[in-house]
Amino acid sequence: MYDKIEIPPVKPIVTRVEQYGGHCCHCHKDYVSPVPAGLEPGTPFGNSVQTLATYFRYTHAISYNRLSSLFKEIYHLDISEGGLANLFKQVSRFKFFEEKLKPRKESFRTAG
Ligand SMILES: [Zn+2]
Repeated sequence: MYDKIEIPPVKPIVTRVEQYGGHCCHCHKDYVSPVPAGLEPGTPFGNSVQTLATYFRYTHAISYNRLSSLFKEIYHLDISEGGLANLFKQVSRFKFFEEKLKPRKESFRTAG
């Protein structure tokens, strides 16, 4: 008896957010509907992508260029180096980044 192990192909799940708006006839103000939690504007890449990118970047020191190729080849997800920069900009606002990841980021820099 023996095992054979496979990982199913991974493909991105895209959720399109469309906000409806209107004009209030009582106070005469324009309004836009709120979006569900987790689907706020900003980087289009959600938690799972942010987590993976951050893990690869700050645990394995993978360059933006290689990260972009990795997401394309392994996850069939187009994310440019600029897209990654925006993603990390968003991630850097989280508290755990300041506490846990920023020190690593600094050590990458000093290591050259
Ligand atoms: Zn109103």
